[in-house]
Amino acid sequence: MDTGIKKIIDEVLSGRIIESDEIRTLYAVTLFSEEFFYIQWAGRKMSEECSGGLAEVHGQVGVNSGPCTGNCAFCSFAAANKVFVEQKVEVTEEIIRKCLTLMKNGANAIYLMSTATFSFDRFLEISKLVYRELGGSVPMIANVGDFDYEIALDLKAAGFTGVYHAMRMGEGQATRIDPKKRLGSFAAARKAGLILGNCVEPIGPEHTLDELVEKTISPGKLNRSSVVPCVE
Ligand code: SF4
Repeated sequence: MDTGIKKIIDEVLSGRIIESDEIRTLYAVTLFSEEFFYIQWAGRKMSEECSGGLAEVHGQVGVNSGPCTGNCAFCSFAAANKVFVEQKVEVTEEIIRKCLTLMKNGANAIYLMSTATFSFDRFLEISKLVYRELGGSVPMIANVGDFDYEIALDLKAAGFTGVYHAMRMGEGQATRIDPKKRLGSFAAARKAGLILGNCVEPIGPEHTLDELVEKTISPGKLNRSSVVPCVE
């Protein structure tokens, strides 16, 4: 094994904060190499220690499907990708049935997802019905388009514990959404008292090492107090 890489990983396991050039080194390891599996082992060990060996299982139900003008290059809902050609809203009873099934099977949180341009009023209407059926026994998380403080309050009033919202890789370039809008939603969620789930995503071979490193460290720089580790 590359001793330099092993040293970085061992020091991180001992509690040292990782530097950007070291993150870059770890991202660059060869797939399925010894170093690759050592990183996975270390990541698993750190997660286990943080969580006491417990994990959460979150389930997501789509409220609608259809072409979305957000046009994120990586998304099957992007209008430009022509995967979905017509707008469709799921039958509310079916959404509730799926949520109840997830809950009965042990999901620790239920996500309701819509495309970015779906009507918030309709989303809230459906969400309130879902919340009533779930009886508040499992946290509900909204995975929706960008929103302001008023909508964040509406989401909270509808029964949501939090939102999943991310500044995606290549935001504003691979997407048609201004990064400032994403950060505005972060702030609105925080102000309204919603938990914010966040990830570095989506990660694919289309991203450069520089992007991966920058996005790995930037959420903490942007607004550390409003960001909690990935909930998805
Ligand atoms: S905004 Fe969301 S739903 Fe719309 S294309 Fe982008 S990722 Fe897909």
